[in-house]
Amino acid sequence: MNLDRKQGGSSWISKAAKAAGGLLLLLCLLVGGLALWCAMAPKPEGFPILEYHMVRDEAPEDAREYAVPVEEFKEQLDYLQSEGYTTVTLLEYMKAKKGKFTMPEKPVVLTFDDGYDDNYQTLLPLLEERGMKAVVFMVTNDIGRPGYLTWDQLRDMEKRGIELGSHTANHQPLTTLEPQMRDDELRLSKLLMEWNGLKTVFSFSYPNGAYDEELPELLRKNEYLAAVTGDAGLNNMQTDPYLLQRVNIPRPRFGLWEFKLRLWKAELMTRLGIMQHRAAE
Ligand SMILES: [Zn+2]
Repeated sequence: MNLDRKQGGSSWISKAAKAAGGLLLLLCLLVGGLALWCAMAPKPEGFPILEYHMVRDEAPEDAREYAVPVEEFKEQLDYLQSEGYTTVTLLEYMKAKKGKFTMPEKPVVLTFDDGYDDNYQTLLPLLEERGMKAVVFMVTNDIGRPGYLTWDQLRDMEKRGIELGSHTANHQPLTTLEPQMRDDELRLSKLLMEWNGLKTVFSFSYPNGAYDEELPELLRKNEYLAAVTGDAGLNNMQTDPYLLQRVNIPRPRFGLWEFKLRLWKAELMTRLGIMQHRAAE
């Protein structure tokens, strides 16, 4: 009796072990297959645009996610350089499309949304030390408010190689606004920056990454040349310039590994063709 029970028990265990083994094998095959496929298939052509907000150690609880600590940010910049990346601005990319700029072999665009004051105090010196460039997208009604960049800082940043773009006047998701309001947000933010002595504004970042099929045309009408989304992927000369792919870089939980994984995510999304915006030929 005891023996039977024991046999019954051990056979149950062996069945479970077999099932677990089978599952593990399946998982290994899947992961292995994906890795092999990525290694074998040609690497998709294109370059990443990275989405940042703040570079600072301390941040209020509701903004913590958006703040990359200084040491980790330095590590990310140094990693990009060690991998042979060269930073370009969006304007340079748009010039390259018209044959008026030669893109480096391995480009990357660094972008910063909202216009926080650490972009001047912390980010700018770190970029200059490394000979790197970036694009900063301003919410024009926040300029000069506590915690945000001032007009003087913006004029100085521009002189020192930063491209300034618009992130609207009020940071409302444009898809929720009436047509006239949308137009105002695009037009007035651009004009305000230009009236305050900044260069012509050509690039744009959608608040909350929210866009619809009418917004690219509205941006074109308002004389913008490029706009970035929050859809991860790589960009090339065929990417819709008003729906550029951009991969988010929030405060890392797993150090530089997470950063490498996010770069890989951009490549993977392009490989899989998920939310990729190729312009109609
Ligand atoms: Zn924003």
